[in-house]
Amino acid sequence: MNLIAAIDRKLATLAAHSLTRRLRVADSACAPRQVVDGRPMLAFCSNDYLGLAAHPLVIEALREGASRYGAGSGASHLVSGHSRAHALLEERLAEWMSPHIEKARALYLCTGYMANLAILTALGADLDAMIFSEALNHASLIDGARLAKAGVTVYPHGDVEALDKLLAASSASTKIVVTDSVFSMDGNLAPLPELLALCERHGAWLVVDDAHGFGVLGQNGRGALEHFELRSPNLVYMGTLGKAAGVGGAFIAAHASVIELLVQRSRPYIYTTAAPPALAHALQASLDIIGGPEGMQRRAHLAALVDSLQGALRLKRWQLAASSTAIQPIIIGSNEDALRAAAGLHEQGLWVPAIRPPTVAAGTARLRVTLSAAHTFEEVALLAGALNDIERST
Ligand SMILES: *Cc1c(COP(=O)(O)O)cnc(C)c1O
Repeated sequence: MNLIAAIDRKLATLAAHSLTRRLRVADSACAPRQVVDGRPMLAFCSNDYLGLAAHPLVIEALREGASRYGAGSGASHLVSGHSRAHALLEERLAEWMSPHIEKARALYLCTGYMANLAILTALGADLDAMIFSEALNHASLIDGARLAKAGVTVYPHGDVEALDKLLAASSASTKIVVTDSVFSMDGNLAPLPELLALCERHGAWLVVDDAHGFGVLGQNGRGALEHFELRSPNLVYMGTLGKAAGVGGAFIAAHASVIELLVQRSRPYIYTTAAPPALAHALQASLDIIGGPEGMQRRAHLAALVDSLQGALRLKRWQLAASSTAIQPIIIGSNEDALRAAAGLHEQGLWVPAIRPPTVAAGTARLRVTLSAAHTFEEVALLAGALNDIERST
C-alpha cells in the first residue's frame, strides 16, 4: 500500500505541473489521416517524413520478408539470429555511406536508442576517455554517455568555439564529440562541417545522430553527411530506420574496425534478440524508394510544404522556430498554454503534440509540428489557419 501511495504522490506532482502525458491509441496506419481513439484526425506529429510507413511497396516487402524469414529472429546476432536479410541490408547501407566514411561497414540494430548506447559505451569504454556532448542532444545520447565509463562534458548548443576550448584543454585518452545532426525538438542543423574540422584537428571522434536526417537530407536522401558533403575516418554515423525510412531499427556506419569492435564488445548490440529479419527485408524497399526518383519527388514535395506552412502562418506571440527541416516547432512558453493550444487544435480534428519539459527547457513548451511528404498543401493550409485563429483567440 505504501509503495503504491509513494508512486501516486509522484504522479500527482506531475499533474500539478501540467506534466502528465497521455497515450493516444491509433486505430489505423501511420498516415496524415488516421483514426485516433476512435475519431478521425489529421496528424502532424509523426516522424514518417517521407510517408513510407504505410507505403504499399514497403508493406508488400514486409509481407514477403515474413514469408521468407518468418516472424522472429529467434536469438541475438552472435548466437544464431543474424539472417541473410540483416547481412544484405548492412551491405547496402555500408555502400550508401562509403562516399563519406573510409572502409565503411554498417551494423543494423533494433532501435536508434540502443544504437546510441552501443556506440557510446564502446567508444567511451575507458575511464580516461571523455565524451563531449552537445547540450540539446537526444535522451538516448545522454543515456549512452551515462552508461559509458568515459567522463562527460556538455558543450553549449551549437557553440563550436566553446567546444574547441574544451577539446584543447582535455588530456583524455580518447575524445568523443557527439551531436544530433537535426535537433529533434527544434529542427535546426548542427554545424557539422565545423565540428568535423575541430575533431580532425584534435584527433577526436565525431559521432553523428542522424535520426531526423537520414532519408530526408542530401540529394539522394543519404542524410546529413551527404547534405554537407563530409568524408572522414573520424566519423561514426547513426541513422534511424523507423522515421523517414518508415519501418524500424537503426544502423551504425563507421570504419570496419569500429564496427568490429562493436560486434565484439558492445553490450546493447550483443545482449539482445536480433530484430525480425522481415524488417530488414522491408527496409530494402524503403531504400529503393529513398534512393530513387520517387524519393527525390517526395523530398521536393516535403520542402514545398515547409515553405507553404511558413508562408501561411501569421503568429504574433508564439514563435515559429528557425528551422528549414520537416520539424517546424512553434514555441509557446508555459506548459498550460501549450496544452491549451494542442487541445484547441484537437477540437478541430488536428493532432499536434505539445512538448513540455524535461524534453525541452522549462518555459519553452511548444507545439511540435512535423510535416510529411504524405501531406497535401490543403492539409497544411488547414493547420496554418487553425494555428492563426487559436493564437488570436487565446
Ligand atoms: C528517435 C531518435 C532516436 C531513437 O531512435 P529510435 O529508433 O526511435 O529508438 C535517437 N536519436 C534521435 C535524435 C531521435 O530523434
